[in-house]
Amino acid sequence: MENFRALLITRDEATKKQSVGEAVLTSADLMDGDVDVRVDYSTINYKDGLAITGTLPVVRRFPMIPGVDLAGTVTASSNPGFKPGDKVILNGWGVGEVHLGAFSQMARVKGDWLIPLPAGLDGAEAMAVGTAGYTAMLALIALEAHGVKPSSGPVVVTGAAGGLGSFAVTLLADAGYTVHAVTGRAHEHDYLRGLGAGEIIDRAELAGPAKPLAKERWAGAIDAVGGTMLANIISMIGYHGAVAACGNAGGMELPTSVAPFILRGISLLGIDSVRQPKAVRIAAWDRLAKDLDPKKLAAMTTRIPFSGIVNAAHDIMAGKVRGRLVVDIG
Ligand code: NDP
Repeated sequence: MENFRALLITRDEATKKQSVGEAVLTSADLMDGDVDVRVDYSTINYKDGLAITGTLPVVRRFPMIPGVDLAGTVTASSNPGFKPGDKVILNGWGVGEVHLGAFSQMARVKGDWLIPLPAGLDGAEAMAVGTAGYTAMLALIALEAHGVKPSSGPVVVTGAAGGLGSFAVTLLADAGYTVHAVTGRAHEHDYLRGLGAGEIIDRAELAGPAKPLAKERWAGAIDAVGGTMLANIISMIGYHGAVAACGNAGGMELPTSVAPFILRGISLLGIDSVRQPKAVRIAAWDRLAKDLDPKKLAAMTTRIPFSGIVNAAHDIMAGKVRGRLVVDIG
């Protein structure tokens, strides 16, 4: 493909203001890498919203093609692990931040960042999972490794109607946990119950300043929100429980105290999706492909065209997106 379509973020270096628009590029515009991929599908994550709207300095090189997740087909490769025709996926690795990203018909990346499309998922389904679903699986694996079991007690999920939260609710419920879902959206209660939430908690209940210790409510948590909500959750985790901290949709700060850690022995498990070793990525994706209920995956997913990316980025920042958005790139 000589010419291809991409979304490009540029920045006026004098004013530091960024602009976003479609551009026609050639393969000479791409950055170094040993595998060329025709991008079939991508998705909009919260991080893509941050990048496109410029809310936080996610983009660290201009011009930048945003988009942190891709599913595509290899068109050329000098990497021994991949050959033309291979179906592949990529999450993270600075793609869409420091390396030209996924909202483009072509990408040139390092083969080390790619893994084969997991058996049992097609490209669109893999992008319905995307970084959000993959991170929720990493969080579930971290809670399990810590010893939080379905019999330990309920597990709470924050930002539950968002992408990561929807997956956390589904994966926990299908693994046998009792799930309490925190949401600010009253009209999404039925959706969350359909994914497996046993109890719904209004976001406002966890919005005030956190006490050092509060009544024990949960054995574990998957948190997409951070800030005061995470501080409240930490104060309510039972003895030796754990919180998988994944996100910052409600803020970067963490106004907590040492009390839950030294008096209840709770653990805060940091979850990073961007730079996981290949074996961890493959194991998490294989489990996603095996465990996910296709009906629930479909219920969480909305397909949008390439031309809808910028509006969707604004919607995700406004907390209006339910579940996951798949972008038809081809
Ligand atoms: P979404 O926008 O889809 O979901 C975020 C959800 O958080 C919203 O839907 C909303 O849920 C809730 N929320 C938004 N604003 C606030 C607020 N001010 N206070 C409380 N709750 C709020 O984003 P994603 O699911 O894609 O990502 C969620 C978070 O996880 C982001 O911060 C993202 O950066 C992070 N993330 C981190 C990764 C990692 O590697 N650690 C990987 C992927 C994502 P509701 O309406 O139900 O209340």
